[in-house]
Amino acid sequence: MKNAKSKVLERSLKHASDFLSKLDEVAISPDVSYQGLRHKLSYPISENGIDPEQVIDELAENVKDGLLGSTSGRFFGWVIGGAFPVAIAADWLATTWDQNAAIAACSPSAAIVEEVCGEWLKELLQIPKSASFGFVTGCQAAHTTALAAARHKLLKDKNWDVEKKGLSGAPQIKLITSENRHESIIRATRLLGIGTDSIEYVACDKSGSISLSELEKSIAKNNGSPIILCLQAGDLNTGAFDPYENAIAIAKKANAWVHIDGAFGLWAAASNTYSHLLKGFEKADSWATDGHKWLNIPFDSGFVFVADPKAHSAALTQPVSYGFAVEGIRDQMNWNPEWSRRARGFSVYATIRSLGRKGIEDLVDRCCLHTVRLVAELDKIEGVEVLAKPIINQGLVRFLDSNGTDNDGFTDKVIDEIQRDGHTWFGGATWRKKRVMRISVCNWRTTDKDIDIAISSIKRCLELVKNT
Ligand SMILES: *Cc1c(COP(=O)(O)O)cnc(C)c1O
Repeated sequence: MKNAKSKVLERSLKHASDFLSKLDEVAISPDVSYQGLRHKLSYPISENGIDPEQVIDELAENVKDGLLGSTSGRFFGWVIGGAFPVAIAADWLATTWDQNAAIAACSPSAAIVEEVCGEWLKELLQIPKSASFGFVTGCQAAHTTALAAARHKLLKDKNWDVEKKGLSGAPQIKLITSENRHESIIRATRLLGIGTDSIEYVACDKSGSISLSELEKSIAKNNGSPIILCLQAGDLNTGAFDPYENAIAIAKKANAWVHIDGAFGLWAAASNTYSHLLKGFEKADSWATDGHKWLNIPFDSGFVFVADPKAHSAALTQPVSYGFAVEGIRDQMNWNPEWSRRARGFSVYATIRSLGRKGIEDLVDRCCLHTVRLVAELDKIEGVEVLAKPIINQGLVRFLDSNGTDNDGFTDKVIDEIQRDGHTWFGGATWRKKRVMRISVCNWRTTDKDIDIAISSIKRCLELVKNT
């Protein structure tokens, strides 16, 4: 029996290795229908169970066609990082050790690993050393955590204990953000009871950064209210950064809490070439970023940092009778919204140790250089219009219909053809009322050759759609 149990792990290792070794051979888009998958996967629950090895073999076989090759170096859709082998390896161990990283007593090693990584991350991302941190599922959870801390502090300053009294009857919090914010900010607002009616959107300038003069007006209008200002580091479409130094100075005059959404863009801080884009960002009150995007940690992995640790823990801490508080040791659940939780620190630890400072800088720089080259090459092709030149690792292009009547429809057709072609993968989006193809390079695997393959696939698909 013991032997049979370890055999199933060996089978899964084989399936994992096969998957990774074939990444460059198989088509990136799954050529399968949802109905087909349903048909393959919907078994009735077996009465007496099935041999684990058979289950794992059949699972690998039956899901194979429906797996998107998003971890391949030729995938440039949404903003989806890959996974370093060292990160996968440590994540396997985290699964095997099956530690509950809720409190330190549940797993002293998980607690200390997170503590070490938290300090490393602040150093790499140039976030003040005195900030507190939490390891969460992603940037969405990081926003929710940070804004809970903001809600606590802003209302406490108005003599309102929100954790005790709730929001009913509380002074209304105003959330000011840019028209280009990520929608996860909005959801955090909804989850925290701040409500979408309390949001004020500030226009951006041509470059996609928040307009300082418009921000000034919005802050002045709401002065006196508890204000949260949400800025962005790395816009989803263009990679744009906000002018932190001035924006934060404006916000601070009204005692606003400033939060920065840096899901991927915060990693520019790890590069000497790009860190200037973040000038002044360290004066914010909270920051959110992801491990599963640019750091290439497997899903799910996000990080939140809060300049005022008291506000952070006051918003999240829930005392329990069965804890084992140890002086000077951090219980993770006081810094994130989860209770029982995965030991997410292990893969972060292994990845940072393995890459080192230079390795992380190189990852960021390389992805940006690939994006620049890809967009520059596309710019030379007739029928391609570049809408956003890369600032970091994001770019936008669209395709022009030869008679110029339906560029939106034409762009979507070319994107469909590229996805069908299977050599590479880009997604569509609507940006400033135009259909566009978004480019995002944030995978350690991407090489010059992958960029060559992407360029020729795009050329071929554009020609094909032109001629149909
Ligand atoms: C991806 C993304 C988010 C959401 O992050 P998750 O990790 O998916 O929760 C928020 N903001 C920006 C700018 C993003 O790119």
